[in-house]
Amino acid sequence: MLYDIIVVGGGPAGLTAAIYGARAGKRVLLVERESIGGQIVYSPQVENYPALPHVSGAELANKMYEQVEALGVEIISEEATGAARQDDGTFLLTTDYGSHRGRTLILATGVQHRRLGLPGEEELVGAGVSYCAVCDGAFYKERDVAVVGGGDTALQDALFLSNTCRSVTVVVRRDRWRGEAALARQLESRHNVTVLFEHRPVGYAVEDGELRGLIVEGKEGRRTLSVEGVFLAVGQEPCSAAFAGLAGVDGAGYFPVGERCRTDIPGLYVAGDCRAKEVRQLTTAVGDGAVAALAACADLDAQDAQT
Ligand SMILES: Cc1cc2nc3c(=O)[nH]c(=O)nc-3n(C[C@H](O)[C@H](O)[C@H](O)COP(=O)(O)OP(=O)(O)OC[C@H]3O[C@@H](n4cnc5c(N)ncnc54)[C@H](O)[C@@H]3O)c2cc1C
Repeated sequence: MLYDIIVVGGGPAGLTAAIYGARAGKRVLLVERESIGGQIVYSPQVENYPALPHVSGAELANKMYEQVEALGVEIISEEATGAARQDDGTFLLTTDYGSHRGRTLILATGVQHRRLGLPGEEELVGAGVSYCAVCDGAFYKERDVAVVGGGDTALQDALFLSNTCRSVTVVVRRDRWRGEAALARQLESRHNVTVLFEHRPVGYAVEDGELRGLIVEGKEGRRTLSVEGVFLAVGQEPCSAAFAGLAGVDGAGYFPVGERCRTDIPGLYVAGDCRAKEVRQLTTAVGDGAVAALAACADLDAQDAQT
């Protein structure tokens, strides 16, 4: 099967691209490796999306998904592992299950939480290590947890967790907060919160496959914090590695593509948070999705007009 448009990533940018492509009468394949919706499914409340002043991220994602499905877009649950432009100008997308061919390719792979990269971390994700206090905080009610990071996300996570956890220890690499001062003041006034500035995590303490602690290193040496949950809030990184060779990436790993969402390669477009840009929000992601898909449609129509 040769698709007109293959979209990689089922977040707001990819879903919007699929809507625009399908509504233009193109045969569209959407490839998503996790659940449809992207990052926004982790937001309990979205208040800045026009016309929907109070909506949960999951509900918003579900509405987008329903719209895409109703338009006849083929949606598959696979992880794209790479792509190559063929001699005939089409793209061969490889995935963990096989390969797919498209006349055009839209990369809308977004960003993901940055890992610490400590030994055993991958196995502990979902079993003691989490990236989402709102999603997983309830599992640690009345327990001791640690939060790693010094920015707004770390502050918000720690505040949220301190409402229900017995204790929250925040591990901050620098000697001060990077996040908002008002949030920091609020957090520091909580009786069950301890902040360790100038400390960095160096390992996880695991017993019988269960997380028992976080090993941290400071000026006075190493110690193990006895915690059952570790929440990582150390930033985000673009999901671009699989396509870095094809589209090129900047020093931070983002695709260096402007607002027209076109790459230097004919038929290859980039949309959403994975693109180098100033503002990463729902509105900018859906905007990119529309721009990329309309560019693909225009190029396809121009090609068809020539044959
Ligand atoms: C907790 C949280 C709350 C937020 N709240 C708001 C808010 O209130 N308002 C707002 O405007 N923005 C908010 N944002 C930001 C907003 O969610 C993002 O800007 C938006 O989701 C970006 O959309 P995207 O489609 O570009 O990328 P993403 O949402 O990151 O989606 C990318 C998708 O691509 C998939 N993918 C990646 N690589 C591959 C691959 N190789 N193969 C297949 N699939 C792949 C991913 O699994 C993901 O589903 C929030 C973000 C978070 C994390």
